[in-house]
Amino acid sequence: MRLYEFEGKEIFSRYGIKVPKGVLISNPDEVVRAIDIVGIPAVLKAQVLVGGRGKAGGVRIVNSREDALRIAREMFSREIRGVRVRRILVEEAVKIVRELYLSITIDRSLRKYVVLGSLEGGVDIEEIAVKKPESIVRIYIDPLVGLKSYHSRALSEGMGLGGELASKLGSILNSLYRIMLDYDADLVEINPLVITETQDLVALDSKITIDDNALYRHQDLVSALEHDPRDMDEDEIIARKYGFTYVKLEGDIGIMGNGAGLTMASMDLVKLYGGRPASFLDIGGGANKERVKAALKILLKRPDIKSIFINIYGGITKCDEVASGIVEAIKETGSDKKIFVRLVGTREEEGRKILIENGIRYFTDDNDAALEAVKAVTGN
Ligand code: GDP
Ligand code: MN
Repeated sequence: MRLYEFEGKEIFSRYGIKVPKGVLISNPDEVVRAIDIVGIPAVLKAQVLVGGRGKAGGVRIVNSREDALRIAREMFSREIRGVRVRRILVEEAVKIVRELYLSITIDRSLRKYVVLGSLEGGVDIEEIAVKKPESIVRIYIDPLVGLKSYHSRALSEGMGLGGELASKLGSILNSLYRIMLDYDADLVEINPLVITETQDLVALDSKITIDDNALYRHQDLVSALEHDPRDMDEDEIIARKYGFTYVKLEGDIGIMGNGAGLTMASMDLVKLYGGRPASFLDIGGGANKERVKAALKILLKRPDIKSIFINIYGGITKCDEVASGIVEAIKETGSDKKIFVRLVGTREEEGRKILIENGIRYFTDDNDAALEAVKAVTGN
């Protein structure tokens, strides 16, 4: 998941990294009030998740309120590299003495964090690597050792910064490292990190990407995704919110199980009987009613799915929780899809009773349930 510049800067600010004073607006009428707060000259920055935004006209300096209004209108009415601008960050313009580059990312083959720093910031790191490769300083951090002061010293020495600037760079590096860990980020980048006339270091831009596999630990980010899905699809966001795994497949038989192994075996069964799986949906261990309901609703809403095979072997997972989730999903969607449930294990009696009361077919042998699910589609 990629964070917007304004989201990244909010985080920077909380971790003590200086950012320009800024106001986020979502329509041009708000720009004058924003200018009153940040002053003139100001910078209007389109909040879009595309590279090379500045070059594509997404970063503009304005010298009057009239300018600001005209440019804000223009930005809101066009696209930047194919992405519509929904928000603009209005910031005080910073007087730049020099633009630096600083980031932390992960070197997967070395299993270490790697800090990249350069005095030639402002352009993409790829471009720096081509034009001024000797300017890039690389510092590796073993996660078991953590960030130490010698890393910071090596960075500032490598970049040729001394005195006040070196110690300021050190504390920014510390903050970046903590952000990296606290947010399960795989990239935290400041480009440019600028030296100002008062010898301060200010983050003029932010780029943070979060490891999607760790999103379940950051429910605040998941809620941000619900309001603004960015590059993730809706079902993926629901899956992350409730904690199940969903992979959409091409077939017409929905498959849902508990545990990756059982779910894969369920797909195999459907294949064996001549059917085509439409999903790999693993509700995981100990799924409650809400999770089951959210998961099944995804399958029920898909018009391409003709029948559904649910395979539950309850251990920590309780069959009655699963059964209630199934019943509620059907009621809430009003779906009449054919559902075949194999339900055994913890609280199976209670679970089956719920299914029977609601007219849902259950099986004790998953071969039978899979076969019926296939027959429901092929008709023989
Ligand atoms: P990007 O193109 O998406 O990376 O956008 P950035 O936020 O990095 O801005 C691109 C460039 O615009 C920076 O490298 C600066 O040269 C310039 N810029 C951005 N903010 C300011 C500012 O406050 N003052 C000045 N003078 N230039 C700025
Ligand atoms: Mn940038």
